[in-house]
Amino acid sequence: MVGLITFTVVMDMVDSSITLTERLWNHMHKRLIQALLLFFCTTTCFAIPRVAVTIKPVHALVASVGEGIFEPELLLPDYASPHTYQLKPSTLKTLQQADMVIWVGPALELFMNKPIAQIHPSMGLITLSQIPGISLLPQRKGRAWQEGHDHHEHHSANEKDLIDPHLWLSTDNAKVIVNYIATFLSTKDPEHALQYQHNAKQTIERLDGLKKTLRSMLQDVQTQPFLVYHDGYQYFQEEFHLNGIGTIVLNPHLPLSAHSLSTVQQLIKTQHVKCVFRETEFSDTMVRNSLNNMGVTVAELDPLGARLKSGPDNYDKTLLEIGKTMKECLSK
Ligand SMILES: [Zn+2]
Repeated sequence: MVGLITFTVVMDMVDSSITLTERLWNHMHKRLIQALLLFFCTTTCFAIPRVAVTIKPVHALVASVGEGIFEPELLLPDYASPHTYQLKPSTLKTLQQADMVIWVGPALELFMNKPIAQIHPSMGLITLSQIPGISLLPQRKGRAWQEGHDHHEHHSANEKDLIDPHLWLSTDNAKVIVNYIATFLSTKDPEHALQYQHNAKQTIERLDGLKKTLRSMLQDVQTQPFLVYHDGYQYFQEEFHLNGIGTIVLNPHLPLSAHSLSTVQQLIKTQHVKCVFRETEFSDTMVRNSLNNMGVTVAELDPLGARLKSGPDNYDKTLLEIGKTMKECLSK
């Protein structure tokens, strides 16, 4: 501090003793530096990509790859479901201004189907359900799922309508996404390629650790039957060998009928279901009331990390929370 004050005083003395020509020269010098900074900014600062991502856990993976370079924008608001969300003007604006857009695909974010045809992001559009190496499962049929279901039986006819779009709930898919995004960004923004690759490597290591943690966490509850509110956890179930036996609603767009509810109650009785997992983004008072006296525990899952802060670690936390909730409920 003392040093700084001394320096300022000395500089003032020097300043008052310089001639007019020197002052003019100093002024021009400052202007030149400003002009150079402006030039530097138009060529470099504006090269920071504006990346828009639809759902929070995927946003987290992208944020992790772009850490230190850019922060992606999140399109879907908290507590909204990608199945039922109606596009708002502010979301459309973010989408139109983005250099790069990342979404899961037409089977998940229905609100994207219309704008996606009209926008042309300069760096590109990434549809995760179509990237190489991503593993896709077919949408399961019916309220109660059969054991030994053949995962590839419906794959050819119309993949667009038949795939289960909740593909981010597998750490293996998350790794494929991270690698793909890092390579894609490295080609489009080569100046930061090294940083993208470094970030991706660290993210992959973290995801490997996450898978290990979840595997040992859920090992003891693998055989316990449970029901979910909507069929959104097939990827998680497959990766950790869990025993989800059915879903309460077949289509999150449609309300549950009394008849369907009695089918669910029947399933709980005959299959000795201990846990029913409801979800943060769906209101289901009717379901909860009707299960009140059935001896099942109703616990809440948050597959989009809506309750958690957005950012690079949101993905890991979202999956850990799902794991913890399942473990706690199923080990009762
Ligand atoms: Zn869903």
